[in-house]
Amino acid sequence: MKADIVTIFPDFFRGPLDHGITRRAAEMGLVKVDVHDLREFTHDKHRTVDDRPFGGGEGMVLKPEPIFECLEPLALASRERRLTSEKTPGSAKESVILLSPQGERFTQKMAAKLAGLDRLVLICGRYEGVDERVADFLADREISIGDYVLSGGELAAAVIIEAVTRLLPGAVGNEASTRQESFTAQEGGEFIENASTCGSGGLLDYPHYTRPAEFRGMAVPSVLINGDHQEIRRWRRAQALEKTLRNRPDLLEGAALNEDDKKLLLQIKDSRLSS
Ligand code: SAM
Repeated sequence: MKADIVTIFPDFFRGPLDHGITRRAAEMGLVKVDVHDLREFTHDKHRTVDDRPFGGGEGMVLKPEPIFECLEPLALASRERRLTSEKTPGSAKESVILLSPQGERFTQKMAAKLAGLDRLVLICGRYEGVDERVADFLADREISIGDYVLSGGELAAAVIIEAVTRLLPGAVGNEASTRQESFTAQEGGEFIENASTCGSGGLLDYPHYTRPAEFRGMAVPSVLINGDHQEIRRWRRAQALEKTLRNRPDLLEGAALNEDDKKLLLQIKDSRLSS
């Protein structure tokens, strides 16, 4: 995969992508990230990238010209072709993304979809935002990483690249682990009975422990030490259900739950009511 980041702060990316899986994926040639300095696409001596908003109002707005000019040498397919090729199997797949708090919320499902593309272009906004013509005529989609406002799109771009890169085949040593994580629905949304020790199916992950078995009086749950794998699996599933109910009950609606899960969930709800 090739990723291009458009930003007024190119130095921001010295660091966040130079560690762990993203670094390893780049070294293995699975992903190549190019960072483009928007100021190089300006034509005045002050290298101006922003201007006051038409109609008045607070702050400054990123101008459209440098952003359009920055993307021209990238030789992308036209916006229309990009949007149609997303639906055509086998054709080169590219997506131009504008980072924006007003965008569609970034999810694990979206990360998996983006991981299937050949090329991502991520446009980082700043100030009050980006001239709307970028969203309307240049970008294919606007993506938000959450319901809060950051000062710029750089952190959001790094988040998306990290989440997408770890889903590229070969990026994570143990690929099965990325299929069992929080938010990950099993193929076709179906819960696969023996697919794993817990099979996330859209739930939050179960708790993880490692050595020492006892630390400052805090013991690892004994079920994990007794070697009964069926019991461990059942315990982990119950923990995943309990944590999802506690922290993200909204996820339960779309989760793939089998009959055992439903019974466990009722037991958890009952024990909560009685405690
Ligand atoms: N005026 C905008 C609004 O109220 O929606 C906020 C602009 S924000 C201060 C500046 C830039 O930061 C945005 O153009 C966007 O690129 C980025 N940004 C801020 N929050 C974001 C989020 N939650 N997800 C993605 N990008 C974000």
